[in-house]
Amino acid sequence: MSKYPEVIQFIQEAYGTKEFIPLHAPHFGGNEKKYLNDTIDTTFVSSVGAYVDRFEVMMAEISQARKAVALVNGTAGIQVALRLAGVKQGDEVLTQALTFVATANAIAYNGATPVFIDVDHDTMGLSPKAVEEFLEEFGELREDGCYNKSTGKKIAACVPMHTFGFPVHMDGLLAVCSKWRIPVVEDAAESLGSEYKGKPTGSLGKLGVFSFNGNKIVTCGGGGAIVTNDVKLGEKAKYLTTTAKIPHPYEYVHDELGYNFRMPNLNAALACAQLEQLRRFLDNKRSLAKEYASYFSSNGIKFRTETEDTKANYWLMCVELENKQERDLFLKMTNEAKVMTRPIWQLMFRLPMYQNCRKDSQQNALFLEERIVNIPSSVR
Ligand SMILES: *Cc1c(COP(=O)(O)O)cnc(C)c1O
Repeated sequence: MSKYPEVIQFIQEAYGTKEFIPLHAPHFGGNEKKYLNDTIDTTFVSSVGAYVDRFEVMMAEISQARKAVALVNGTAGIQVALRLAGVKQGDEVLTQALTFVATANAIAYNGATPVFIDVDHDTMGLSPKAVEEFLEEFGELREDGCYNKSTGKKIAACVPMHTFGFPVHMDGLLAVCSKWRIPVVEDAAESLGSEYKGKPTGSLGKLGVFSFNGNKIVTCGGGGAIVTNDVKLGEKAKYLTTTAKIPHPYEYVHDELGYNFRMPNLNAALACAQLEQLRRFLDNKRSLAKEYASYFSSNGIKFRTETEDTKANYWLMCVELENKQERDLFLKMTNEAKVMTRPIWQLMFRLPMYQNCRKDSQQNALFLEERIVNIPSSVR
């Protein structure tokens, strides 16, 4: 007898409904309407406004970074962060294949090529050991940085992604990247509120990027942020993402190819109202994670919990099933019962635009790809 009908019942009871249960719905319980109305009353709905400034102050504080820049979305943020880290046309960038497509796309937008390195089984994020093994075999230090001996290309950056809000083993990763002089740009899109050894994710590398898309822990409709402790880089990020305009009382002077990647004040208003509730969202999710953990431990299904020395934000919670067959059965039964569940992403090298990219053994990524399933995780 399958134990999945009982799992379905547990999730329905946890959410107090037999109707459709989404994977992750936004939760608006604070000043959202008030702040949105304010943008209309003041006419400041567009690319400048007090909420954009306030959002940047709040984000710097939350991520304990010296500078935060509001952006139109997270993908654009990773694109610009990589450019600021020094990534250029023809370079290579190390990242994980087990990620959302935006991570790899942001690398490709810079004319660079992703090189896919394996993840750790416990964090589901980029493995310091696998990065080290790759660099021991292919890395070569030259005056201006690290090169890939087999391709002759510069390895210009490394992008770990904190999968579902579970922090990557950052100490190990930062150590190996520093040894090989490779800047680290964190894809922290999913990990707002997560901590590694007491420090927020996003501000551990040279630059970090968050997303505020509709399905993330905090949403502003659509939006992103770059955070960094390097104030000069932060200022450069602001300048590049606001059309590279030189301040002038009335003339339009632009001295570099910039972008219009601004977050409108309308979205920033929503973001501010949501960020005010982040602490409550984190606590609420943590209590659901606890209920899931104790329930699943009683029926032998592996529920994923945070690793030692870290605090996950439990953005999307997940179970690890025994094999692909079990996974497929679980997906079918839960979705038929209107309990929304989704498999983890297909590995990036399966997608046509990345199928020729270099990769290592991908042992853990291949294992997780067949077994990890997200289960309903919304704030209740
Ligand atoms: C959501 C997400 C992004 C992109 O964020 P957008 O704001 O949707 O552009 C990037 N990377 C990962 C891993 C994500 O989950």
